[in-house]
Amino acid sequence: MIKKRNLVFLGAPGAGKGTLAQELCKEKKLAHISTGDILRSEIKKGSELGKKANSYVTSGGLVPDDLVADMVAKRLLDNDCQNGFVLDGFPRTVNQADLLEKALTKIGRKLDGVVYFEAAEDLLIKRLTARLVCKQCNTIYNTIFSAPAKKGICDKCGIELYQRPDDSLETAKDRLLIYNEQTAPLVPYYKNKKMLATINAALSKDKSYPELIKVLS
Ligand code: AMP
Repeated sequence: MIKKRNLVFLGAPGAGKGTLAQELCKEKKLAHISTGDILRSEIKKGSELGKKANSYVTSGGLVPDDLVADMVAKRLLDNDCQNGFVLDGFPRTVNQADLLEKALTKIGRKLDGVVYFEAAEDLLIKRLTARLVCKQCNTIYNTIFSAPAKKGICDKCGIELYQRPDDSLETAKDRLLIYNEQTAPLVPYYKNKKMLATINAALSKDKSYPELIKVLS
């Protein structure tokens, strides 16, 4: 059993938040709320939100705080979030963290903890540019560290994998710059609130997952 179930996963793009969130949520029956996945799906659908978010996501910039915060506030009301949730990729600014706190207070809930995935920049670039994602189930692979059994095909659903356009070397570098400027201040922010647990994100999934379970127990 894990004690902490209402969670934020914090860390740079490529730190492995999504990979461990997928694993944890499946095992512990938590809702996986990846704001990046939701935005990409809205863009694909061509919804109003998708149209507003498209240029930011494509360029690796941040979608405006109020748009993402509203999207998350709505998602938190869904039934599958009642047993706990992992926010993966949100908040990404201190303002978003404040908006999240307000949204949770409004529905009588609160965060149990924030897990910070710590990794060096050269590893992040290596991971990002080698990342492949399933077009259907969003499972994350990596051609260097965790390749699928059959090249370019998802092990789970047999569907083709793709490289996110924002995982190109140039855009990945821009995203890391934005992370350092806008998101990294959330590390001291949550540390001051005594909510932060750090795990070594340079480890492989086999080693980092038990670390994750330990900090949540
Ligand atoms: P991710 O899949 O988490 O790497 O997110 C992909 C892209 O979606 C980011 O580069 C941003 O353009 C956008 N995005 C995701 N989450 C947020 C957020 N919390 N705030 C602003 N933009 C976001």
